[in-house]
Amino acid sequence: MITRRTLLEMATLGAAAAAVEAAEPPFSLPKLPYAYDALEPYIDAQTMQIHHDKHHQAYVDNLNKAVAGDAALSKLTVEELLERLDTLPANVRTAVRNQGGGHANHSLFWQTLCPAAKSGKPSGALAAAIAQSFGGQDKFEDQLRAAAAGVFGSGWAWLSLDPAGKLILDTAPNQDSPLLSKRRPLLGIDVWEHAYYLKYQNRRADYLAAILHVINWDFVSQRYKALAG
Ligand code: MN
Repeated sequence: MITRRTLLEMATLGAAAAAVEAAEPPFSLPKLPYAYDALEPYIDAQTMQIHHDKHHQAYVDNLNKAVAGDAALSKLTVEELLERLDTLPANVRTAVRNQGGGHANHSLFWQTLCPAAKSGKPSGALAAAIAQSFGGQDKFEDQLRAAAAGVFGSGWAWLSLDPAGKLILDTAPNQDSPLLSKRRPLLGIDVWEHAYYLKYQNRRADYLAAILHVINWDFVSQRYKALAG
C-alpha cells in the first residue's frame, strides 16, 4: 500500500533527480556567428556544419565528462584550465589538453572567420605589428600558409602574442593551445583534415589559399588591440 508518506518521499526523490538532470554542464557549444553557407565558396556549408555541430560538440562533451563531479574544475573557464594545465589533477590533464584545447581553439576559430565580402585587412595596431614582425601583410600570409602547409598530421598554425607582447607565428600539433605556452592566441588556422577534406581532399594548399579569403580581420584586429593593450 502506498501511504501519503511514501508519495511525499517519491516526490522528493523525483525532484532531486530532476534537479541533478537539469544541472547544466559547465561547457557548451557556442553558436556559429553566421550561417553554415556564409563562407561559400571558400569553405563549404557541409564542412562547416559537421565541423561545428559534430567535431566541436564532441570536444565540448568530452571536456564536460572530464570535469564532471569536480566542482573546482567546473568553475574555471576553458582558458583558465589550459593556462594552469600543469597544476591540474593528473587524471584530467590529457583530456583538458586535447578536449579543452579543441573547445577553446574552435570557439576562437569561428569568430575569426566571416563572409569574404567582410574579410578586409588588418587595421591599426595589428597592421603595424604585422608590418614590423613579418615585413607586411603579403609576406605574413605567405609565412602563415607555409607554416600551416608544413604541419605534419593534425594541428594548427597560430598567430599569437607572447608574454612580452610580440607577435609569434608558429604551429602546434593536435589541439595544443598557445595558452599552454603562455601565449594569447589571435588567429589559428585549423589543418586537421576534418576542416577541409570534404571539399579539398588532399589539397591542403588549396584550402589554405581559400581560407585566407574569409578571415575576419576586423575581429582579429580588435582582439589584438584588447590583448596587446
Ligand atoms: Mn577542427
